[in-house]
Amino acid sequence: MILAPIQDLLQSPLKLDDKIASLLMTARDNSLRLLKLVNDILEVIKLEEGKSNLALVYIEMNAFIAGTINSMVHMMESRNIRLVKELDDEPLIIQADTYAMERIFLNLLSNAIKFTPEGGSITVRSSSNIKEAIIEVIDTGIGINQQDLPLIFDRFHQADGSSTRKYQGTGLGLALVKDLTEKMGGNISVYSKPGIGTTMRVVFPLSREKHAEEEIQQMPTEGDLLEVIHRSAEHSAALPIDTPFEKGEADLPPGDGPLLLVVDDEPDMRQYLVSTLGDDYRIVQARNGKQGLELARKYLPELMILDFMLPEMDGLEVCKLLKENQGTRQIKIMLLTARTDEETKITALANGADDFLTKPFSKVEVQSRLHNLLQTFNLERNLTKQNQELDKALNELKQTQVRLIQSEKLNSLGTLTAGLMHEINNPLNFTLTALKVAQRDPSIQGDEELQDLFN
Ligand code: ADP
Repeated sequence: MILAPIQDLLQSPLKLDDKIASLLMTARDNSLRLLKLVNDILEVIKLEEGKSNLALVYIEMNAFIAGTINSMVHMMESRNIRLVKELDDEPLIIQADTYAMERIFLNLLSNAIKFTPEGGSITVRSSSNIKEAIIEVIDTGIGINQQDLPLIFDRFHQADGSSTRKYQGTGLGLALVKDLTEKMGGNISVYSKPGIGTTMRVVFPLSREKHAEEEIQQMPTEGDLLEVIHRSAEHSAALPIDTPFEKGEADLPPGDGPLLLVVDDEPDMRQYLVSTLGDDYRIVQARNGKQGLELARKYLPELMILDFMLPEMDGLEVCKLLKENQGTRQIKIMLLTARTDEETKITALANGADDFLTKPFSKVEVQSRLHNLLQTFNLERNLTKQNQELDKALNELKQTQVRLIQSEKLNSLGTLTAGLMHEINNPLNFTLTALKVAQRDPSIQGDEELQDLFN
């Protein structure tokens, strides 16, 4: 009831606005991912409780695999991954459940596509010995570390579970593949070398009976709408999250509105944020931590939405580096997290995050939180400006004070000199007057020598 209406809307003859169509496609792809997740979890539980009902029929594996691969070819092409089919000439007839078998190969192929960089190749090879059909999916991808090999078939195990993981997934796929394979009498093994590639090998017992043509199922059945939707959900695992960047996404948009840097590796999430916030902010996008850090330093945005788990460098590290630096400290950072546990929050705060947004979030929530952050940013900016002005005024005051003190010093020197002069002049005056009176005395006037002295 979610996917079918969305699909109807997308296929309707009405000409949809580009923005709306792209939002609908985001909703569709993510509903498919959700459906796959729910399906995987249900299947795991059913298998665990022994309630998985497999409907066994006879399948010719070469044709069946070719049919399954066909549905994935466009994904390989879009990632520039070469497909090599090396299928056995002999028919390989085994007894299996078609739905389970399709799931096994869709999972193996999705992983091969997901973990193989552009330009690599995937080989699907089938062969047989007297008793068994052997099918291998061989990729030239990133490979798996020796210590992870025994664990990858465990539920929820991911070789790279770090916060800088580049790939989506839950770690359920291979657990399910193993359970289903074994339930149909087969087994799975893995060979892998980091940097060289991975080979997944599944082996099923061959049927010993002779079969009439009509008894054998060659292809996965097309099925009804619901089956088609479920199949699309299986494909969704290989939908790349690191799609090539649209041109200009990392460029500075023109204008002078507040600038928001969105750092998220999921194009869907970036697209959603752009369509939700594009009217209020100029938006620049980055798709990994390193690029986010570079763009933040380059453009100095007011606001930043930073995903927690990012390839190359995780959100916490980016946050810490920006907050440690005088030049970028003022950027308001909102960390986007899928986790709400106390520890994550405390670590994020300790690394300087200004706010959190826990996925899933509503449009109103992200808008109002950003609005608040922007207001704080502006207030702080005004404060800083006022502080600078205050500093300047204080400096000027200090200089005036220095000048005042100097002139005061000169003034007091003047007063001192005047006082001294007064002190000197007074006795001098008295002395001169006394001498003048004495000079007029007749006894002195008669003596020439004394007169000379008085003069
Ligand atoms: P996920 O949902 O993470 O893909 P899976 O159970 O399918 O879960 O795989 C478990 C882990 O095994 C993956 O996270 C990955 O680390 C590793 N893995 C599986 N297939 C491959 C492959 N073809 N190349 C490299 N690593 C792989």
